Amino acid sequence: MSISARTENRIAVFPGSFDPVTIGHVSIVERALPLFDRIVVAIGVNNSKHYMFPLEQRLEWLRRSFQAFPNVETISFEGLTADLCMKLGAQYVVRGLRNSTDHGVERSIALMNHALRGVETIFLPALPEHAHISSTIVRELMANKADVSAFVPAAVRP
Ligand code: ADP
Repeated sequence: MSISARTENRIAVFPGSFDPVTIGHVSIVERALPLFDRIVVAIGVNNSKHYMFPLEQRLEWLRRSFQAFPNVETISFEGLTADLCMKLGAQYVVRGLRNSTDHGVERSIALMNHALRGVETIFLPALPEHAHISSTIVRELMANKADVSAFVPAAVRP
């Protein structure tokens, strides 16, 4: 049975590491909100991956960044995004595309999620003013004590 047969609500999952959440992520969620009844921003936990910030810290930043949006939920999960979608009755995944590298990687993941669980991925292009922002670069800046306040939501600012 495909997921779409199970629910009338349009639910989307926005998965990522959010290590840390940036204004690029927040922008994607804000722009996706009119398309869905509910968006679940979900931190994927991969035990073999090293993160700069502990899960609890990343979750707290997400929670505070999206607390003004009643249709946004923040969670963490282990395992496949497609399985999380099935569990939540979410028919869609939302992803942001900054450049052609993102596109190449995301296309394969999207096709696999469709093959596994019939989940459709909705891509939103990063706004030009956010296309250079990545969690990786923000981590690098933080590690070097640079000011990241222009790139992260207020919740993440010191
Ligand atoms: P992952 O760990 O899966 O790479 P990230 O936390 O880095 O996840 O990002 C989650 C999603 O947000 C991805 O779809 C990514 O392309 C998107 N994204 C990241 N940074 C930006 C940005 N500056 N503008 C728009 N989308 C972004």
